[in-house]
Amino acid sequence: MKVHLINPSHVSFGTAVITPRWQYVLAGATPRSFGDPILVDETLCRMDPGQIRHGDAVGISIHTANALRGYEIGTMARERGAYVIFGGIHATLYPEEARELGGAHSVVQGDGDTAWPRVLADCQKGTPHPLYVGGKIEASEFVSARWDLVPRNRYMWASVQTVRGCPKHCSFCSVWRTDGQRPRQRTSDVVIEEVVQLRRLGFRFVALADDNFYPVTLTDLNLAAQQKNTPRLNELKALRAERFELMSRLAQLPDDMVFFTQITMEAAEDPEFLDAMKAAHIKGALVGVEAVTPAGLKDVYKDFNLAGEPLIERLKTFRSHGVHVLGSFIFGLPSDRPETFDATAAAAISADLTFAQFVTLSPYPGTVDFDRWEKGLGPNPPKIAGVPLTRRWLIPQALRPKLYWDHPAMSAEEIRSRTQAVWDSFYQLSSIWKRSRFIKSTRGRLAFLLISKIYRQMYADTGIATDSARVSWSGRWARWLAKPCRYLFAGRPMPNLNVPPMQPAIGDDQMYGIPTFDT
Ligand code: SF4
Repeated sequence: MKVHLINPSHVSFGTAVITPRWQYVLAGATPRSFGDPILVDETLCRMDPGQIRHGDAVGISIHTANALRGYEIGTMARERGAYVIFGGIHATLYPEEARELGGAHSVVQGDGDTAWPRVLADCQKGTPHPLYVGGKIEASEFVSARWDLVPRNRYMWASVQTVRGCPKHCSFCSVWRTDGQRPRQRTSDVVIEEVVQLRRLGFRFVALADDNFYPVTLTDLNLAAQQKNTPRLNELKALRAERFELMSRLAQLPDDMVFFTQITMEAAEDPEFLDAMKAAHIKGALVGVEAVTPAGLKDVYKDFNLAGEPLIERLKTFRSHGVHVLGSFIFGLPSDRPETFDATAAAAISADLTFAQFVTLSPYPGTVDFDRWEKGLGPNPPKIAGVPLTRRWLIPQALRPKLYWDHPAMSAEEIRSRTQAVWDSFYQLSSIWKRSRFIKSTRGRLAFLLISKIYRQMYADTGIATDSARVSWSGRWARWLAKPCRYLFAGRPMPNLNVPPMQPAIGDDQMYGIPTFDT
């Protein structure tokens, strides 16, 4: 029985930005007795059905955006006599759908790390169960990725996870519901092992694929202290200390390494944390800004963010501590008005953002927004091509609406075209060139320009463009640009690189910028 792990995608670029981590983790969870799994990432190239034989096991992980392609692959694999197993966030939320439309014999709900070997053992016996509950395992049970299987020259960034879960509760995000609100943090030993292995192979760029790299804020610590909740305070302090421990080890890695992560804006109130990030070569972070007005933040339950001038100052703080920001904004919030688009574009520039993305509000399964939207459409929602709107991912790609909400002040077309205009203005050549001033060499500035353009092509046009000609032109352009980019990201392999040792532990009283609490 051969094991296949397939990452579905309707679009292939030949080169991909980030390694699909789940494939390498499940490869690590595959018992060696099955041999090396066959990994197919369709963001690189289409799978070859001829590879799948009767009695093989085919694992497919899906999120909402690639569910339809995943179902096509699952159906085909089942027809060829393979056992078909679905996992990932979408299959976790809709296990029945994976069975009905994707030919699934089994669905793994939640974390797959420990469930996967059980699934394979049952397939080998010919008795796979319809459902395996992976749940939310402890960080000590997370399986490390098998990077020895990665095709080195096809990806720009590798991906390593340091923490799962996020304590917040944003209305458009499913992470806190699916991964949980309790941060499950891996020890620095296992994280650094993976990172060193990647650098040995020649990966200089590593995305820390975390839900929120800053899971404990100074406000959380203060609150626990004020409440005289000593166990909670100690737990938070330990999590924070582990973050610093990891960063102190990343700081000992070669200077050519670059890490990127995802973090809440609150980290900007914590200069010690930002300085540790800089020392650890964490040179960039995606920050969910979402909205530039208090009303917009209220719309998405993100009142821990700032708006107006304090927002600009907070974002600039990242930059002044050497951490570049990819700011993420949402358009189409109920409080948005035509002037919100210009205000957002101006804020993105004044806040010294290095990159920005502007997405339109879409109801994603597993989120509070989705529940509200689904309920609002009632028991008989409108249909497109016979598919209820509330199962929008099953509507053929070409027929899908670009926006799903009725907005109180703007038409869907107005929101779409204004969003595209903001992308266009942020990524026009002159703006990118101006933003590249922080780079000294012309060659470096040209590389920045290339990367900005590819980012814009891969993430904007394919998402919000209306006409299929523009979408396919964007795809071709991104494919063409991706090749030279790959070389910019590659590093010389360092097969003899050692794992940096742990730094001496520090006492509680000197712990990284935490005031001494009287509990
Ligand atoms: S959007 Fe970010 S901060 Fe909000 S719940 Fe999701 S991961 Fe957490």
